[in-house]
Amino acid sequence: MLYLDIDGVLLLEKDRDVSHDIIKRRASHVAWLANSLNMPIIVSSQRRISDDIMILLGSLDLIDLLYGHRDHWRTPLKVDDMDDDLSVRGQEIRQHLRVVGARRHLIIDDTPVLAGQTHLDIDPALGIAFDDRARGLALMNKAA
Ligand SMILES: [Mg+2]
Repeated sequence: MLYLDIDGVLLLEKDRDVSHDIIKRRASHVAWLANSLNMPIIVSSQRRISDDIMILLGSLDLIDLLYGHRDHWRTPLKVDDMDDDLSVRGQEIRQHLRVVGARRHLIIDDTPVLAGQTHLDIDPALGIAFDDRARGLALMNKAA
């Protein structure tokens, strides 16, 4: 399971004037990781509640890599037994892994997740970049 955040990873605050090609290039790094690791993409971004999320993913050529489950293509909108002291994002991902019965995962996110989760930490000023491909693979090798 490849958990994908969007803001700070694919879309940056400074992107207002940037061309769609640059955003698509970032998305291509995510697609490369999903293909190389043979992991489906789960949307963990806050944008998973937005009506136009599929339009965005389609325009970035990521739709075909999405986890093909009617409900579980995104992390849960509500966490059971939420711990307010821990990362909400990390808890949503932990619950998703439990629900789908998976362990193997890589989280692409610019904000903290839970200790012990495999996290490809992205600099929100840069977004995901070419070097993150190798970094993601190395993290998975270490986690295996
Ligand atoms: Mg983010």
